[in-house]
Amino acid sequence: MPYFCYLLKSNCTINSLCSYVGFTTNPRRRLRQHNGEIKAGARKTSSKRPWVHIAVVSGFSNKVVALMFEWQWQHPKASRIVRDQMRHIKTKGKGYKGQLQVLRAMLLTPLWSQLELQVNFVDIPAQSYFLSLGVMKNIRHETLSVTDVDDMHVRASSSASAARSAIGHAVEHAQEGESESVRCHICSQKARASTRMLWCCPDCGAAAHVVCSALQALESVDPSSEVLLPDTFCCSECKVCVKRIIASKMSFSPSQLQRASEPHDATEGNEDEDDESDPDTDDDAVIDEDDEGENEDDDVMVLA
Ligand SMILES: [Zn+2]
Ligand SMILES: [Zn+2]
Repeated sequence: MPYFCYLLKSNCTINSLCSYVGFTTNPRRRLRQHNGEIKAGARKTSSKRPWVHIAVVSGFSNKVVALMFEWQWQHPKASRIVRDQMRHIKTKGKGYKGQLQVLRAMLLTPLWSQLELQVNFVDIPAQSYFLSLGVMKNIRHETLSVTDVDDMHVRASSSASAARSAIGHAVEHAQEGESESVRCHICSQKARASTRMLWCCPDCGAAAHVVCSALQALESVDPSSEVLLPDTFCCSECKVCVKRIIASKMSFSPSQLQRASEPHDATEGNEDEDDESDPDTDDDAVIDEDDEGENEDDDVMVLA
């Protein structure tokens, strides 16, 4: 399932400086919830309707990473790394502009820049403002139409089919072509014997634990560098090296492997069900910077 973090701006008054940062699996549906068009969640944003998308960040490899990103974006002062990066900012922008400054600062940190996330702008002036902030070293950004955003979760779901094809490759490569015999070609443990994530070499189909491959790759990395994860993953069977982003698309969990080998009707429909129990609830913060507030130093007030 795809995961996104998004930035909204309130249009409740012409000069409203209310903005909101959240997490979702479906940006279109979530915006409709914020705007009260469909039920569920979004109680805290109800007084500042209507909301529009400013930007949607995509490319998170899993839910935990997306939630971490959301949290840092909402609480930049609580993160030392983001705080350090924010020190370079002379004038703090108001409303969504302030949020875009935080976003840029986050994307420039080693932690987030290595994930090759993408900022998808729906609002052109916001994108121009973002670009005016200075060096964009390795920050991927794109302009999307409202319709593009509506389709985002569908397009990103194709990464779920990437996982299915990774499993297919791995099974094909396994002895006897059976899912039970898929094993890590580094530690030789059977895939089903632990809960560790695996990835599958896109060239030869050999599977390995992500951890085993990462440890192997880190042996050649200078220990004094800030690298937490290697940039490339190499298949120790056929020696091909792929970027981490490709490896992450070719990754799967033992439970996905298990499900893939079960009869079809048992798995169909599961994804839809998950999708409806959207994990984003009302826990996220409304950032209220309504018009008059002039306290430059701390003009982000978190409601609730
Ligand atoms: Zn292993
Ligand atoms: Zn290989």
